[in-house]
Amino acid sequence: MPNEKRRWRRWWQTDSFEGKLRRRGALALLVLVLVLVLVLVLVFVFFHGARRETHGQPWLEFSGENALAHVRALVDLGPRPPDSAAIKKARAYLRKNLEKFGWQVEEQAFTDETPRGKVAFVNLIAHWPNEPRNGQRFLLCSHYDTKTFDSITFVGANDGGSSTGALLEMARVIGLHPDLAARVDLVFFDGEEAYENFTATDGLYGSRYFADQIRQSKTQKRYRGGILWDMMGDRDLTITLSTDSPEQLTRDIFTAADALNARNHFTYFNNDILDDQTPLNKIGIPTIDLIDFDYPPWHTAEDTMDKLSAESLQTVGAVTAYYLAEMAFR
Ligand SMILES: [Zn+2]
Repeated sequence: MPNEKRRWRRWWQTDSFEGKLRRRGALALLVLVLVLVLVLVLVFVFFHGARRETHGQPWLEFSGENALAHVRALVDLGPRPPDSAAIKKARAYLRKNLEKFGWQVEEQAFTDETPRGKVAFVNLIAHWPNEPRNGQRFLLCSHYDTKTFDSITFVGANDGGSSTGALLEMARVIGLHPDLAARVDLVFFDGEEAYENFTATDGLYGSRYFADQIRQSKTQKRYRGGILWDMMGDRDLTITLSTDSPEQLTRDIFTAADALNARNHFTYFNNDILDDQTPLNKIGIPTIDLIDFDYPPWHTAEDTMDKLSAESLQTVGAVTAYYLAEMAFR
């Protein structure tokens, strides 16, 4: 046995009073260190786990009831066609709430020729403060105008109302996750509805202008994709994914719906759908339209609050939140 070890053993085994004291001290120190390590490990596991719990599952935080309350507030303003007093109030309501949830609101104002002459439109774009200049972002969109009718009172509970109220609730939910919020822009389009029929120059005024600004500044690459919501509040919810939906997004939405046991609310539509996603897809930002096109009261005076349910808003909100948190930035 080498000298060193022998000396150590002698020190350890010595029966002197001093030796016993030294041994007890050494043991106490060892136990203290072990307890400290254990506490540190527990603290790390707890906080790490807790962070995953509250920061990682925004789909559990989306409230269909909150969304429905926003829809009701908008519908209570009456018909909200472009350039009306009511749509200005709707804009103020959106801005007030978006700012409350921590977003900065940009007004994208423009005028365009319509079958009724020149009309002033305003898109609202919500950015998270200090969002990174580089790094791709994702767009969440809804139109907040209602179709202009002369003969009926059209309040657009589902068409214009449902997706806008839900997008406000989504703003609250994403705002609870600043790292996610910094990678998302929320866009509220004006002038989605055509005055007569959808043509190259009638309808989609807001999204055409928004896409055109991006195209002109050549900033398409900033956006990796988008989800458009439209008519998502019908009690009898079936989201009909149109044939012109981007493939990967379609697959991912089905996967997200599967994960939340909501697959039965999503199906394929047998045709293209012309909506605010069209101008975005045209400039190279793959965007999917989550719309329930099977809605009998569509563009009638019967598109009212009683046709909607909080559950439907919740379903689409949760599936979208799941996609955003788990799949959009893979
Ligand atoms: Zn419509």
